[in-house]
Amino acid sequence: MPSAEPHFGLVFCGGGPAALGPIVTAARSGRLGELLDRGIALVEPGPLGPGGLAHYRIGANSLGGPFLECLDGLPDTGPFAALRDLPETRLLREHADDHPPLSVVAPFLTRLGAVVGALLEAHPRCAVFADRAEAVRLTADGVVVTTGSGRELTARRAVLATGGRPLGGYADAEVVPGLELAPHRDKVRHSSSLIDARHTPPAVRGKAVVVGGSHSAWSAVDLLLAGEADEVTVIHRTGLRLFYDGADAARADGYAFDPELDVCPLNGRVNRYGGLRGRAHELARAALGLPGADPAPVRLLRAGDPQDAEAAHKALAEADVIVMANGFEAALPPLSRADGTALTPATGPTGTVVTDRGHLVDTEGAAHPRLVAYGLGAGLAPSADIGGEPSYARRADGVWLYQHDIGEIVLDDLLNEATTGETHS
Ligand SMILES: Cc1cc2nc3c(=O)[nH]c(=O)nc-3n(C[C@H](O)[C@H](O)[C@H](O)COP(=O)(O)OP(=O)(O)OC[C@H]3O[C@@H](n4cnc5c(N)ncnc54)[C@H](O)[C@@H]3O)c2cc1C
Repeated sequence: MPSAEPHFGLVFCGGGPAALGPIVTAARSGRLGELLDRGIALVEPGPLGPGGLAHYRIGANSLGGPFLECLDGLPDTGPFAALRDLPETRLLREHADDHPPLSVVAPFLTRLGAVVGALLEAHPRCAVFADRAEAVRLTADGVVVTTGSGRELTARRAVLATGGRPLGGYADAEVVPGLELAPHRDKVRHSSSLIDARHTPPAVRGKAVVVGGSHSAWSAVDLLLAGEADEVTVIHRTGLRLFYDGADAARADGYAFDPELDVCPLNGRVNRYGGLRGRAHELARAALGLPGADPAPVRLLRAGDPQDAEAAHKALAEADVIVMANGFEAALPPLSRADGTALTPATGPTGTVVTDRGHLVDTEGAAHPRLVAYGLGAGLAPSADIGGEPSYARRADGVWLYQHDIGEIVLDDLLNEATTGETHS
C-alpha cells in the first residue's frame, strides 16, 4: 500500500543544477521564505546539487567564476554564508578565470546542494526524499508523484528537472537530406557514452567521425584524440560557432561572424549561447586554422555542402565509430492525465518542448502549467529577457542560467502561477 504524505505546494523531481536554480535564485532575491512556505517535496536519489556534472570526464564550458556568482547576493549570515570559505569553494575560486575540470565544479555544487537540502529539511512544510520519481499523474487540482519506494506525493504542481537522455532516434538520424546514419547504425554511439562516466565508453581505435558542432561534440573529439583514435573527422551542419567576449575580440582572432545574428544584444558577446568555449574552443579554433593555433589533427566536413558530400559519405562508411552529438531530450518519468491516459511530451529537434515559462507541451500542442520542465533536454528557448545571439536556435542551458535568468523565470512562475500569454519554444 502506498504511504500517505501531506499535500505539498510543489514537488521537485530531481535535485540537480536545474532544480536547485530557482531555490538558489529565491535565496538571492529574498524570496526563499515565500517559496519554502508553499511546501516543497524534493525527490532525488543521489546527492543534491551536481546532477550529471559529477560524472562528466571533461572540463567546464564556463569559467569557474560564474559558478561562484550564485554566492553574490546571498545573505552574509545564515546557512549559505559558510559556503564562501569551504575548501571546495576555494579550489573552484582558483579557477575563477579558466575552465575548471567538472570534477572541481561538482564538489562545490554538492556543498551548495547540502545547504539547500538542510534548509528544506528544517522547514515544517518541506521534505527531501532520497528516492526516484517513477510516475507523475495530473489530478483535477494538482499532481501526484509516485516514487520508487511507493510514496504518493500530492502537490499543486510538479517541477520536472530529471536531466536528459540522448534524443530518440539518434542512431538513425538524417544529418542532412541524403546523409543518413541508418546504414551505419551499428557503429553509432551517442556523445554521452564517451563523456559520461556512468556509461562504459566504446573502445575506439582507428577512424572516428563525430557528427555535430556543440560543446559535447568537441569534448568527444578531445576524448577521442586523447585515446586511441588515429583520425577524427567532424561533420557539422551549421559552421563552427566560437564564443568571444565581444566583436572586437572575434575580429582580432580572425573569426568570421555575423555582426547582428551572432551577437547578443544584451551584452555584446559573440555566440553567447551556441559558441564553443574552453578546450572545445581551442580545438575548433585549431581545426579552423585560425592564427597561432596548434594544428589539430581533425578534418572538418560541412554537411550539406556539395563539395564535402562525397567525403562525408566516405568518412561515415570507413569509420570505426561514429559519435553522434545531437543533444538530449528530457528524461522524464512516465506522465499521465487525470483520466489515467498517457500524457506524451512533445519532442522537437532541440529536445522536449516547453513554453517560454517552462510549462510542458504535449504531442497535441497543449501546455500543462502544472508540469514545469526545464534543464538538460528541456531548456527554455532564449527570449528577449535572457538575451543570446539571434542565430541561436537551440535551448539556453547552463548552471549560471538556472541560478539567474532561467531561475528567475521559473521562480516567478512557481510563486505567481502565471499561466497566460505564453509561447511555445
Ligand atoms: C557534456 C555536458 C557538459 C556540460 N557542461 C556544462 C558546464 O561546463 N557548465 C554549465 O553551466 N553547464 C554545462 N552543461 C549543461 C547543464 O548545465 C548540465 O547538463 C546540468 O547538469 C543540467 O542540470 P539538470 O539538473 O537539468 O540535469 P542533471 O544534471 O542531469 O540532473 C538531473 C538530476 O535528476 C536526478 N534524477 C534523474 N531521474 C530522476 C527521477 N526519476 N526522480 C528523481 N530524480 C531524478 C538525477 O539523479 C540528477 O541529480 C553541460 C551539459 C553536458 C551534456
